[in-house]
Amino acid sequence: MFGSNFCKRSAQVAVFLVFGTAAVSGSAAWQATSPASSPAWQRPPATAPAPAPAPITLADILRGAYGPYRVNNDLLSYHLDIRVDPDKQTISGKNSIRFKMLQDGTRIQLDLHSALGVDKILLGTTPLQYVRDSGAVFVDFPETLHAGQEYTIDFYYSGHPLTTARFGGFTFGKDPAGRPWIYTACEDIGASVWWPNKDQWRDEVENMQISVAIPSGLVDVSNGKFLGKTDLGDGYTRWDWLVQYPINNYDVALNIGNYVHFSDQLGDLPLDFYVLPEDLEKAKKQFAQAKGMIEAYEHYFGEYPFKKDGYKLVEVPYSGMEHQSAVAYGNHFTNGYLGRDWTGVAVSPKFDFIIIHESGHEWFGNAVSAADRSDMWIHEGWTTYLEVLYVEYTFGHDDALKYVNGYKPKVQNREPIIAERGIAATPPQDMYFKGALFLNTLRNVINDDARWWALIRDFYQHFKYQNIMTEDVVAYFNQRTQLYLTPLFDQYLRHTAIPTLELKFNEADGTVDYRWQADEPDFAMPIRVGKKTDWQIIQATTYWQTMKTPLKKNEFDVATDLYFVNVSKQ
Ligand SMILES: [Zn+2]
Repeated sequence: MFGSNFCKRSAQVAVFLVFGTAAVSGSAAWQATSPASSPAWQRPPATAPAPAPAPITLADILRGAYGPYRVNNDLLSYHLDIRVDPDKQTISGKNSIRFKMLQDGTRIQLDLHSALGVDKILLGTTPLQYVRDSGAVFVDFPETLHAGQEYTIDFYYSGHPLTTARFGGFTFGKDPAGRPWIYTACEDIGASVWWPNKDQWRDEVENMQISVAIPSGLVDVSNGKFLGKTDLGDGYTRWDWLVQYPINNYDVALNIGNYVHFSDQLGDLPLDFYVLPEDLEKAKKQFAQAKGMIEAYEHYFGEYPFKKDGYKLVEVPYSGMEHQSAVAYGNHFTNGYLGRDWTGVAVSPKFDFIIIHESGHEWFGNAVSAADRSDMWIHEGWTTYLEVLYVEYTFGHDDALKYVNGYKPKVQNREPIIAERGIAATPPQDMYFKGALFLNTLRNVINDDARWWALIRDFYQHFKYQNIMTEDVVAYFNQRTQLYLTPLFDQYLRHTAIPTLELKFNEADGTVDYRWQADEPDFAMPIRVGKKTDWQIIQATTYWQTMKTPLKKNEFDVATDLYFVNVSKQ
């Protein structure tokens, strides 16, 4: 995603929720932070206080917690089969949900926004009872479902889905020529804003079929491989798509419009493009960038992760969204971001920010996914870093360094990047820019590019098609590097302040004392200091050490373009 409204939640409130008889803790004490004690001039700009957090509601907890009626089952597949009526602005149909029970039980939790009606829920031909509570739908079974057994239920629903949030949730819109243009973008509000599902991040289906009946003459582009279309004989045509990989709920998309289609090929990967007819010529030029983007990411991480489903770009009226294998594109067929030099350092006008960013999510976000929204930096921090890698691959290291440092003025350092777990909280904007700057820092801590490239490639390959938490990332990096990187990750991800390198010069003795000022007592990070043309690496910790230097205070540099840190000289 890019450009959402970043809502704020309290990170300090412990919440306990009773689901029937089981209590679930949704809080994490380690997220408390201490204020930065460095003087204001040493901190990056934009240090206005964080806005007051919105209170956590029961609905947040029902949606965000991995409660007992979610934990007792494992999703296998969905078949979403719906009809969309542009005139009445309604959707209706069913989702067939196949799952395996992990424990014996008589209840599971699904989710559907309260704006939509539940028509019936069937197990075979047996109607099931259910209880709705805000967005949750607790489905009750007349007999015990057994651990290890697989079941399919058909969840019928209908109604007028909500158009909400910046990108719309579900929008019945019109294109500039006044024809229907209907699209989805629901990462923040959740996929249950328009279809019934287990609306959380931890558990993904292995595969999914999407069938969308729309007035004949319109086109539906959804995720996965296009299977074909069927004239239903009543003025409607059903479009069938097959997703052959695990998929996040929020990635599941409808794009209904008067699309025209053109295609290309990268090796044996099909590339398919869907745009409004007026934009066809512009799109043919601009979307040529997709090939270079895929080549760059394949260079660093390996094969495009959804090869059997192909790669698609689909024009939408909002800026963009990483819908798996059907990336939503709304960047006006121009370079930069919405026509602007996105980082202000004359690099982003060389490429189309939305193609590069949203498609980067195919590797991080869609293939490697976070298990909870709290750890969304695994999507956004990594994908923002992928932009930097794209720049390095395409335009060289100097531009990449300029590009990533161009993100510094966007960093706020007001809240930790990792948000409260289990309440569907949206982390702060720092997960993008500070996340990428942190990964650039980590590269320079490793200080061996051959090792760094192997490390991030193996990290991706190890976790692709999985849903992970930050702890998994840190454990992997610690194990592979044989370094204790936990305090480093924690300082950047779980605190607001970045580390400050404190330097005390004693020019008479030709020495300088140095240490890190950081929230993590065990924080340690090597860093290049001294003369730009001949850096020295010091192994700085939170304890004072002394080094010899012939350099005067004003001649002594720190490689702040390679490490995202503050420097204080005394
Ligand atoms: Zn994104």
